[in-house]
Amino acid sequence: MALLKSSGTPSDLAPIRQAVILCGGLGSRLGSLTKDTPKPLLPVDGAPFLQLQIRDISRYGVTRFLLLAAFRSDQIEAFAADLPGLLGRDIKVDVAIEPDRAGTAGALYHARDRLDDRFFLFNGDSLLQADLLDLEAKLASSGAVGALALRPVDALGRYGVVRLEGEQVTAFGASGDPKAPGLINGGVYAFSRALVDRLPPTGSLEADVLPHLADEGALRGLVCDGFFLDIGVPEDFARAQTEVPAYFRRPALFLDRDGVLNEESGYVGTVDRFQWIEGAREAVKLANDRGWYVFIVTNQSGLGRGLYSLSDFQDLHAHIDADLRRVGAHIDDLRFCPHHPEGGVGVFQRDCGWRKPEPGMLLDLMRVWPVDREASVLIGDKSSDLEAAERAGVESRRFSGGRLDAVISQILDERSS
Ligand SMILES: [Mg+2]
Repeated sequence: MALLKSSGTPSDLAPIRQAVILCGGLGSRLGSLTKDTPKPLLPVDGAPFLQLQIRDISRYGVTRFLLLAAFRSDQIEAFAADLPGLLGRDIKVDVAIEPDRAGTAGALYHARDRLDDRFFLFNGDSLLQADLLDLEAKLASSGAVGALALRPVDALGRYGVVRLEGEQVTAFGASGDPKAPGLINGGVYAFSRALVDRLPPTGSLEADVLPHLADEGALRGLVCDGFFLDIGVPEDFARAQTEVPAYFRRPALFLDRDGVLNEESGYVGTVDRFQWIEGAREAVKLANDRGWYVFIVTNQSGLGRGLYSLSDFQDLHAHIDADLRRVGAHIDDLRFCPHHPEGGVGVFQRDCGWRKPEPGMLLDLMRVWPVDREASVLIGDKSSDLEAAERAGVESRRFSGGRLDAVISQILDERSS
């Protein structure tokens, strides 16, 4: 176990479950586009930008979202109400309405009573490829009030420069030569509640708060050199229409659970009966790092048969997620089917299009996520798994023992060559 604790979040801290998103900007640089629509709700590839952003954040175990809104907050509220259904997952999306022109620091100040002990914060008009578990781990280092995702650029352009020495941010936001290379703020942060004591009722996080925290040595930085896009100006908003959908379209690794991630011992529904397959956690991490979506699709007729309860199942998956975090890994989404045509009790006794070999769970995941179906693979240990994949048009492999990471590593290598 010692080895497993070397990365990811230290196990003595509860995982960050809250994301706060700054949605209050007027978007005046976008002209008529934002005359009646808040910038985060502008459509990108047919969906509000904010929907794509929240879907992405939800991959890292965040279940509660707090949207800080001002301009046309009625639209943000209507969006928030619809979102859990659109994404098909158990998330809570709340809206806090900030006073006019409070600024980003002011918006947080006015929502201070609603912030968790540790939370992620996002600009609502940019998208950065960042491993939130790595960012969360940076916040855990001593003396840190915040951890910032930083993007290297060839030319600073309209952005202020951030200086990083080792893990420590030593200067934030100074204006630099627009043509010079450097690190810029990626608009993705992890903060502890200690930030609240530094917030003014009106003001800017970037201009009035972060420079002082950097001077005090209270900020850590994580360099993220992957995808970055800020929709704040018209030419970048236009670019987003093709680049954002291309960025989110990825292969998926669909994993059956029992017999693939954990030893098959019949109706595993509680933590005491769960035992990892060798190399399973490492396999998930490999796929995460390669940019694949990782989904669990699992028949759970044990639930419908009354062998264990929904809360047992949820506890077990919290345990699975916590174990995965110790190797810096995460499951992006999960579908399960509690029904069984004969064995189910009461409402659980029925045919269901989600129960493998039916393809419903895979199809629902592909409704929500922009999966590159042709490049995707399902791993299962039974013919019903392979049949479900075939019906969903996804290639499959049977797992028949050994180390799962060896199998996955081979698949990932084949696909990237
Ligand atoms: Mg199985």
